[in-house]
Amino acid sequence: MNESERLMAARRSGMVRDLRHKGIVDERVLEAIGSVERHRFVGEESRNAAYEDAAWPIGYGQTISQPYTVAYMTTLLLERCPPPAKVLEIGTGSGYQAAVLDAIGYRVYSVERIPELYERAVRLFRALGIPVMCRLGDGSLGWEDEAPFEGIVVTAAAPECPQHLLGQLSPNGCMVIPVGGQDMQQMTVYRRSGDRFEKELFHHFAFVPLIGREGWN
Ligand code: SAM
Repeated sequence: MNESERLMAARRSGMVRDLRHKGIVDERVLEAIGSVERHRFVGEESRNAAYEDAAWPIGYGQTISQPYTVAYMTTLLLERCPPPAKVLEIGTGSGYQAAVLDAIGYRVYSVERIPELYERAVRLFRALGIPVMCRLGDGSLGWEDEAPFEGIVVTAAAPECPQHLLGQLSPNGCMVIPVGGQDMQQMTVYRRSGDRFEKELFHHFAFVPLIGREGWN
């Protein structure tokens, strides 16, 4: 390990400590967050701040999710859907959340609507040897050809729960999704049991909008 890698590893450990203090207690989540090199998923200008618990711009009006948010959503999924489940992420963005899901042991599929972000994430996954399956398109409609999924994680804010995504959950599958207005959303978990869906509500967050047929226009 060279000097810069040592520095990044030390900052990463500091970020894990910070998340623990903020209430993230699942050791599998903390271990995964501690193993993914977040500085590789942010732009050059944010590299020195990559291990602060903050969202940074990744271009095209989008952001890499805050580590606390990634840890929170991953915990909700993990408590209901153990690896090696097949999981669909909507909103690949920087690729960071998908990389954390992969590190947990999920089989990850991810959809992004912005071609430049999709291409950058595909290149990065390939360079880092992370086996995430990627698709370019409107993720509010899910990934029909690969459905069903045991888990779905939506990393952009939906005005209502997209029915296509509910329909692509396996019989006992669960979906973690921020639902609400453009400024503030409530983290929501939908759990499928046959043809019925149970809904649980959690904390409030602020995400960029899910734009698409079953999102914002
Ligand atoms: N998971 C990402 C990460 O870890 O960097 C979060 C990125 S950002 C908060 C949300 C992403 O959702 C953006 O890249 C945005 O382009 C994407 N997005 C918004 N609407 C979408 C849609 N309908 N289908 C696919 N991606 C969408």
